[in-house]
Amino acid sequence: MTSETQLRQEIHQDLMRDSTEYCCYCGQQRYRLGCCGEVHFETYADMRQEDQQAILDEMVADEMEKLAKEMK
Ligand SMILES: [Zn+2]
Repeated sequence: MTSETQLRQEIHQDLMRDSTEYCCYCGQQRYRLGCCGEVHFETYADMRQEDQQAILDEMVADEMEKLAKEMK
């Protein structure tokens, strides 16, 4: 069974290689231009550690929820 810490580690490593860009202001994934009316985006690897943690927290919570559902 995957522990939360393991999951966090795996997601972090995936994200470090990921070229997906996020908004510098609201942290939203870049789906379309200008969620904040700005065009500043950065990849996960470019972010400050605290911003990485925030995204990681969200993704880990999502994954844990999915795993919990699969187990029912
Ligand atoms: Zn934004």
